Order: sequence, then C-alpha cells, then structure tokens
Amino acid sequence: MNVIRPLRTFIASHQPLRVISRSIRNVFFPQKRVLNRMITVEVSTLCNARCIFCNYRFGYRKKSIMNLDSFRSIAESSIRLGYEDLSLTSMSGELFTHENAVQIIKAAKAAGFNGIFCFTNGILIHKHNIEELLTSGITHIFISFPGFSEKLYEQIFKVSTFSDFKKSIQMLLKTHKSLDSKVKISFLPRTYLTLREIKDSEFYRSCISHYISDLVDMDEPLYFYDTWGGDIDSSQLVEGMTVDLNPLKSIHPFKKTYPCNMMLRFGILVNGDVRLCNCRYDSTIGTTKDSLYIGNIADHNNLESFMLANKVKIEKMRHEYINGNMPALCKKCPMYTPVDFNSYFNYIKSENINR
Ligand code: SF4
Ligand code: SF4
Repeated sequence: MNVIRPLRTFIASHQPLRVISRSIRNVFFPQKRVLNRMITVEVSTLCNARCIFCNYRFGYRKKSIMNLDSFRSIAESSIRLGYEDLSLTSMSGELFTHENAVQIIKAAKAAGFNGIFCFTNGILIHKHNIEELLTSGITHIFISFPGFSEKLYEQIFKVSTFSDFKKSIQMLLKTHKSLDSKVKISFLPRTYLTLREIKDSEFYRSCISHYISDLVDMDEPLYFYDTWGGDIDSSQLVEGMTVDLNPLKSIHPFKKTYPCNMMLRFGILVNGDVRLCNCRYDSTIGTTKDSLYIGNIADHNNLESFMLANKVKIEKMRHEYINGNMPALCKKCPMYTPVDFNSYFNYIKSENINR
C-alpha cells in the first residue's frame, strides 16, 4: 500500500509546520526588502479553463477584453508614474485569449517597461506567433498546469485541452531554444501530484526535461490554495489539494501587526476599474462595494490624473489597513504578505502619486 500520499494529505490538511513557521514570520519577521515598482494591467477577463481552485467559474465578472489603444495609454501613463515592471496577469482571465496579446506586450515594451511578465495556462500559446512572442519584450512566462495528462486537465482544470497545451509547450520550448531566447519560462504545477510524479510522466521526460536550464524551470507543486474570500473550500478541491488555513494569515486581528505588501500594488482591470492589491476578488467585484476598489479611469484623462484625484482615498485605505480597519476582502485573505514598516513607508514616499 502506498502510504506516502495519505501521509502527505494528512500533513497538507493539518499544515502544522506551515502554520507555525508562517505565523512566527508574520508576527516577528515581516519581509524587509526593496519593493519593485510593479503595476498590473489586465487585458482579458476571458478564460479557456475552469480550474477547481479559481473563482472564475462562478461568473462574477463580465467577459471582455481591453483594446490596444486603451492599453497603450495606460502603459505610457504607468511609465510616467515611475513603474518599471508590468504584470499582464489577469485576476481571472487568460492573456492569450486576447487575439492581440503579443501586440499588447510589444506596446508595453515600447512604452518603456523593463520587466514584463504573465501567468498563463499556456493552452492557447500555439495560436500566437511564438517567435514574435519571445522577441516581444516579455521577460518571464509563468505557466500553470495540473499535470501532464488529459485526465488531470479534466479533473483539475475542468477542460479537455491537454493536446492544445502539449502543442503550445512543444512549440514554445523548441522556438525558445532555436532563438537562444533569454525569456524565462517557469512551469507551475497546480495539482495533487508530487514533483517526482510530474517528472516521471511521459510528456515531461520526452518534451520538457531536456530544455530545463537556468531559463526554463519546474517549480514545486502548489498544494495550498486561496479561499477567494471564502468562496472556495477544500471540499471543492481534490484529495492532496487544500485551501490555506494558516490562522495568522487568515484571521484579520493578527494582520494588524504589519501592513500587507500587496496594499502597495495597483491593478487596472479591463473595464478601467482601479483596485489596490488586485490579486484577489469576491462577488462584490465590479461594484463600489468591492473593498479594494478605488475608482475608474474613464472619469479621468489618464492614469496619472486618476492617481492624483484619488490620492487621499488611497492614503486612507492604506492607513486604515495599518490601524486594523482593513478592507473586508483582506480580513478573509490568506495571501497576506507582511512587510516591515521601513520598507513600506520608503516605498510610499517614492511613489509619484504622492507628489
Ligand atoms: S486558468 Fe487561471 S483564470 Fe483560468 S480558471 Fe484557471 S486559475 Fe482561473
Ligand atoms: S491581505 Fe490579501 S487581499 Fe489584502 S492586500 Fe494582502 S494579498 Fe491583497
């Protein structure tokens, strides 16, 4: 009998070491670091998967894409605001559902971004010009996948698209090698499999292993998932995958200790809504009840004038967080990443929106 998986499942569901170590870190050792000047712009709210750990499948958001001109304006404004790095990761959408995904990346590069990255499920990459993608200015592609079989796609991503994924990855890695591309490609397993089991799969051995290098890597599987504001619990996942239960990350009184790193981030949604953090949302998304919502850029000439007009509101939201009156979503969010006060306030002082 294989005792490894039940043992791992037990440890995963009880998370003792994780709870203790993260809790100690949260209370005593917040991150001390220079935070990079990064902004997120979402260009598509469409996704071609229905992952069991994501709230996309609840359909809270209107499906739409951002046009190239709107994106260009936001990108240029972001550069004038001092942002250097861009995430094109949609909160619940897939970059490559946008037919102009590569043009979007090129426009970001032309605007002046240094680092441009995205998280993608990779399934649709083969529909784009891969050579153009790898020379577009993108610097890092993070590819999430449930394992390398149709069964795993159906079980975890809830779609039968493994053959498309395979095609995309084969084309991507082959082109990456032939171009001697410096774009970093990271594979992110979202599964109950162990890394060993992933590496033992036929697709990994025949199509990926020989490309592994400093630029192409395979991460450890993620076993702990966000609850998306309480919408997802472990019963919706499969054995070996569980929601993050760390109490000192999830119970809001403990979060008073330090501010969350993500309160320094802004995200611009397809519809022009601007949010703080923007890594998670709940059913209030798209309404003024959304506790991380700041406003919409449509009411302003550009992102700079939006930031200026909302400076006081942003300051208030951040100030309230530190004083324990945090946004409703933060109270339920296990993605809390504490940052020390020096790093936090130094970053805020350096923000152009405060000038
Ligand atoms: S691919 Fe990403 S956005 Fe789409 S359902 Fe999965 S986790 Fe959500
Ligand atoms: S606690 Fe969660 S939702 Fe709140 S700012 Fe941090 S990561 Fe974002």
